[in-house]
Amino acid sequence: MPRAGIYARISSDRDGQQLGVRRQLEDCEKLAERKGWQVVERYIDDDVSAYSGHKRPDYRRLLGDLRSGLIDSVVVWHLDRLHRQPKELEEFFEVCDSSGVRNLASVTGDVDLANDDGRFMARILGAVSRKESDDKSRRIKRKALELAQAGKIAGGGTRPFGYESDRKTIRPEEAEVIRECAHRVLAGESLRSVCSDLIERGIPTVSGGEWKTQTLRTILMSGRISGQREHHGELVAQAEWPGIIDPSETARIRALLSDPERRTNRTARRYLLMRLLRCGLCGETLVSRPKTGGARAYVCAKGPNFSGCGRISVLADSLETFVVEAVLYRLDSPEFAAALSGRGEDVEALPWQQELDEAQFRLDELAETYGERAITLSEWLSARKPIERRLAAAKKLLAERTRASVLGEHVGKASDLRDLWSDLPLTRQRSIVAAVLDHVVVGPARRGYNRFDPDRFQPVWRV
Ligand SMILES: [Zn+2]
Repeated sequence: MPRAGIYARISSDRDGQQLGVRRQLEDCEKLAERKGWQVVERYIDDDVSAYSGHKRPDYRRLLGDLRSGLIDSVVVWHLDRLHRQPKELEEFFEVCDSSGVRNLASVTGDVDLANDDGRFMARILGAVSRKESDDKSRRIKRKALELAQAGKIAGGGTRPFGYESDRKTIRPEEAEVIRECAHRVLAGESLRSVCSDLIERGIPTVSGGEWKTQTLRTILMSGRISGQREHHGELVAQAEWPGIIDPSETARIRALLSDPERRTNRTARRYLLMRLLRCGLCGETLVSRPKTGGARAYVCAKGPNFSGCGRISVLADSLETFVVEAVLYRLDSPEFAAALSGRGEDVEALPWQQELDEAQFRLDELAETYGERAITLSEWLSARKPIERRLAAAKKLLAERTRASVLGEHVGKASDLRDLWSDLPLTRQRSIVAAVLDHVVVGPARRGYNRFDPDRFQPVWRV
């Protein structure tokens, strides 16, 4: 008479379809009796999901007993109780092969381990139960999305800066700080500079720790402060709590802070024209490099990690003075005012924001259609492309509009700006220059000419 072991497992399914372990055992015992198998051992793993890769001590014991010959048959309620990973299933086949075990019965259908069809079926069943498990986690994700789309509060833990711990009531004094920081960053000040100021003024963070650029960045980039609910970083709905700043400001902050041109580092902080100079001989971007003796310079760098020609070098101080003068002059020119007018920030940002939202919505809709298998993978991918292009274009334009808004207050008032220029933080100076100037082409120096030579420089204006 075959000596059978019964394997039962409680998984952590939460949707009510879970069979109690007692019911699994009862059904299996009846099945063994019907088959004329003697049940010699019961193996039960408690509340552990095989799918999540946790260890199952009794499953290991079952394999051991199969190897040693204590049992030669296995009864389970359904194959998904036994394995959920293909690797485990193959190991099980191996143990059965080496110890001559052929009997595997399940309440929902037997598998003949001796033939390929049976094994094939076991593999298919394994794949199906994995998919069901995936569907389950998809349902949980779906639920999270529904909550997000309804604008409901997410998460617990530390209260968000600007709000009380109910996450809905605004804290006026912190809201004021948020508004101030948003305006300063939109005006081109760096996160670092704003943070230092907050620290100096003794304004506390939520945790009581010191302000870090990352903390400030997270707050300012969040949809929360403009009363918008986020889901995986995307703004999905109007939230059930009030905003502190305007949604259009959030859109501009996001465009500004995620603009790759913005990435600053220590060097950029000392060099006003970083990334704004191009070699007139080879077209490469000049890099900053102090000369021996300490004078700052920009050079077309050659050698490891650099692809320049190495034939251009220009002293930083005089060139920077020249470019700043040119920028200030440009700010006062009538063409410039004309180019900038009609680029009013709020009026202009809105349509682009709508375009962004719409493109994102179309992408989500497509993903859903593909998820429902209504279109093929290649149809999905090719339908995505034009929308992604639209999305990228809209993001770029929004970033440009934002850049224009950096200048708003200075247009036509360059002499005021000139007076306070040297007191502005370098990041602010940089953002004003970069808003006006696309780049400057730097030509080679004239041999034997030692004075500053404006003919070497050809500015290309952005506006
Ligand atoms: Zn070059």
